[in-house]
Amino acid sequence: MTKGNINVSVENIFPLIKKFLYSDHEIFLRELISNATDATLKLKHLTNIGESKVEYGNPQIEVKIDKDAKKLHIIDQGLGMTAEEVEKYINQVAFSGAEEFLDKYKDSAKDAGIIGHFGLGFYSAFMVADKVEIITKSHTDAPAAHWTCDSSPEFTLEEDDKTERGTEIILHIAEDSTEFLEESRIRELLLKYNKFMPVPIKFGTKTETLPKPEGAKEDDPAPTKEVDNIINNPNPAWTKQPADLEADDYKNFYRELYPMQFEEPLFNIHLNVDYPFNLTGILYFPKMSADLQIQKDKIQLYQNQVFVTDNVEGIVPEFLTMLRGVIDSPDIPLNVSRSYLQADGAVKKISSYITRKVADKLKSLFNNNREDFEAKWNDIKIVIEYGMLSEEKFFEKADAFALYPTVDGKYYTFEELTNAIKAKQTDKDDKMVILYASDKDAQHAYIEAAKEKDYEVLLLDSPIVSHLMQKLETTKEKISFARVDADHIDNLIKKEDTSISKLSEDEKTKLDELLKEVIPSEKFMVQLEAMDSNASPFMITQPEFMRRMKEMQQTGGGMFGMGNMPEMYNLVVNTNSELVGEILNTKTKKKQERLINQSLDLARLSQGLLKGEELTNFIKRSYDMIK
Ligand code: ADP
Ligand code: MG
Repeated sequence: MTKGNINVSVENIFPLIKKFLYSDHEIFLRELISNATDATLKLKHLTNIGESKVEYGNPQIEVKIDKDAKKLHIIDQGLGMTAEEVEKYINQVAFSGAEEFLDKYKDSAKDAGIIGHFGLGFYSAFMVADKVEIITKSHTDAPAAHWTCDSSPEFTLEEDDKTERGTEIILHIAEDSTEFLEESRIRELLLKYNKFMPVPIKFGTKTETLPKPEGAKEDDPAPTKEVDNIINNPNPAWTKQPADLEADDYKNFYRELYPMQFEEPLFNIHLNVDYPFNLTGILYFPKMSADLQIQKDKIQLYQNQVFVTDNVEGIVPEFLTMLRGVIDSPDIPLNVSRSYLQADGAVKKISSYITRKVADKLKSLFNNNREDFEAKWNDIKIVIEYGMLSEEKFFEKADAFALYPTVDGKYYTFEELTNAIKAKQTDKDDKMVILYASDKDAQHAYIEAAKEKDYEVLLLDSPIVSHLMQKLETTKEKISFARVDADHIDNLIKKEDTSISKLSEDEKTKLDELLKEVIPSEKFMVQLEAMDSNASPFMITQPEFMRRMKEMQQTGGGMFGMGNMPEMYNLVVNTNSELVGEILNTKTKKKQERLINQSLDLARLSQGLLKGEELTNFIKRSYDMIK
């Protein structure tokens, strides 16, 4: 038997492991199962290339709880270790890894995820155990070895009589970690970290019902059999070739990932690169709701089928965090902190690759089946619009498939839209004015007025669309967006076809003075306009830029550094309307004021601006008038 010190300089490694990795204790199991998997896959490779003479067979990894003895066993049938290899890989590597860890620890003490990155994966066992044993038999002829360490720097190494190849790790669970002797807790961890690992993992047994033998009676119980309970799916869909998968396979895998999700995904994107980095995965577009926050953190990140995290911020571009699915890359460091991940060059490349791939997929969906793409547009537009705003590359590519629906359910690409818009739909600076509505019901009258003029009216109603319009106005040439009820479309809609003003200049001055007396100037800019006599007498519009700024303030979280903007509206008074003439000719001041207030309130009501006490007063006044 050998006795020795792991290394004097790492005397403090055990207390450190315990203290600083406290929050992440549970990862010990992932580390040990990763090692068992590595050992199994290494043996597979060795037998494949003829370097090992053993029969590979169907190896599995077993996790076993011995509650009475307070032990947890992890048993594999991998390549095992000789005593020399234990000496080298466990004792010496631990020492170099630990030194690096100690070095690093001085600067960044709180980096809880650091352990695996420095080759301390195995030692994470000491987070939950006060004594650890390794019993291991190499696939070579060398005798088995038995290593024991009780969380002091001392270890013992002796021969063992284990004959079957592979490694058994025995954790003597510490008093403060007895949760890891609970079946439910271990099952939870296996499902979280190892659900898709490539070697079958056995955890206990389960009862399987067999078919009844022939001639069995009606109420004879069906025979049963105890079988291994395999916790994982070693061949998840993303590890296969897209050509080998049917639409149903993708749907089934989605259900495997999100058992509680009943809605089917809209479509999926199979990622598969091996140069300049390795990346596989499947991303799904789910149906989106307007609430962007709750949909995040659904993509799972794996490294060689080992679960790493479901917080993919910084790895996947922000706008794609609303998608679901799996990304797997051996180039993603397994156990480092988030800040380290985001600075990592490979990770950055992955992010821009995914962006490109998603754009390409959307483009091919659009090209191959435009009708279907249009039908799905409402459910995916948020992601696409968000991506156009946040990723320049995506913005460029999206030009080919981003859609602009009209109020009548037609869908245009940007190019088609500009072709469809008639020449007369331009403003005085010769800019093309793209009219849009955000609410078909609320803006009904304005939409109708525009349609009568044969104008195209888009329906743009997603929460971030005002940002996107701003972006399009600055990137595209000579266009501007205007909501159908905005003020600067006056010359497009209202002023045309109007007869000569019926009011004289004198009468206009009189009317202007009268209106300004009654209407608060800090809320409304009064404008007199000679419109069609059938058009509304009073009409409220809001400057396009002001409304859009306000909307952007709401959805941009104040990031544009704007203070609270005051509410400011235009009140357009139609001097040709009969009512306005009547107001002017009414004899008593009191009656004039009443008519003005009533008309103003009606205009506000039609814009949804009349609320609370003002609404109550309006209704009261209206009843008084019809009495
Ligand atoms: P890493 O896995 O990053 O190499 P670990 O601390 O997890 O670091 O493991 C150290 C080494 O110990 C491994 O590289 C491997 O050589 C050896 N080892 C650990 N577990 C096993 C096992 N179950 N079977 C065979 N070798 C193992
Ligand atoms: Mg390891």
